[in-house]
Amino acid sequence: MLTFLVQMRVDKQKHIIEQFGENANRKFIVLGGMHGNEINGVEAIHNIIPSLKKKFDTSKGQIYFLKGNVPALERGERFLDQDLNRLWLDENLAQNHQSIADYLSLNILHELIVKDICQDRFDNCFFLDLHTFSARSGVFAIPACNQKSLALARSFGVPFIEKLSEMLPGTALSYFGRKGMTSVVFEGGTHQTPQATENLTAGIWHSLAYAGLVDAALPEVSQSRKLLQQISQGLPHHLELIYRHKLNQSQNFKMEPGYYNFKPIQKNESLAVQNQHVVESPDAGFMLMPLYQKKGSDGFFIVKEK
Ligand SMILES: [Zn+2]
Repeated sequence: MLTFLVQMRVDKQKHIIEQFGENANRKFIVLGGMHGNEINGVEAIHNIIPSLKKKFDTSKGQIYFLKGNVPALERGERFLDQDLNRLWLDENLAQNHQSIADYLSLNILHELIVKDICQDRFDNCFFLDLHTFSARSGVFAIPACNQKSLALARSFGVPFIEKLSEMLPGTALSYFGRKGMTSVVFEGGTHQTPQATENLTAGIWHSLAYAGLVDAALPEVSQSRKLLQQISQGLPHHLELIYRHKLNQSQNFKMEPGYYNFKPIQKNESLAVQNQHVVESPDAGFMLMPLYQKKGSDGFFIVKEK
């Protein structure tokens, strides 16, 4: 038992990049690398730490910078066996699948966030989950299904998408949202591009100021807000999901080239080829997260302006 507990502590430490602050009245968790190929989130966190070390007022609250799927990050792969960001379900947490790497990461992160950081109290906790995507361009935010999360997602100024979290069972976003946390995914740009790191860095500064953890007058915050505004020019702001093209592993799916987030699409437009059949758009709207990588459980999504 003791060895297990010691091991658990060692394992948890691997997920903690840095922590700041003393006042437990407000807690802000920023997580990078839930998907192991999405290193930009971890880079953005490392961008912020030096300034925070100089400027953070520890009485404002606590900030935790965490890494998501550590073994997958080491390999630069989205996940090892199972997508960690589809495993956040009570039935998975109740069983102890210790032998499967991604389930092990789930259990460690769950215990770290729920027990150690939040101490089973969620109303004063924020969760910002940093991601990138395989398409080119189109930064956006996804709120969990509660009003506080919606308000934070709206505040970035980038497009934000309702009804997406409900369509993706097993995300950390929905799991913590259901517990009453202010929970938002920030999708910062194309995998492994410097621009994605810059956008994610801006997203973190904005949301820390939004939550009152850093002073909104800091130059880092105002520059970040300017950047988020610039990259969203001409894009719709408030959207909702109308279609998810779900894949299973046996399907041979190939997206047509040239799609990117928020590209307008017409009804019946040919979007992809799947098992030698053309996939047509069931409705008009905007393209979201077209899949241009091997691993992924969704081919694309369609969103509409609200
Ligand atoms: Zn991701």
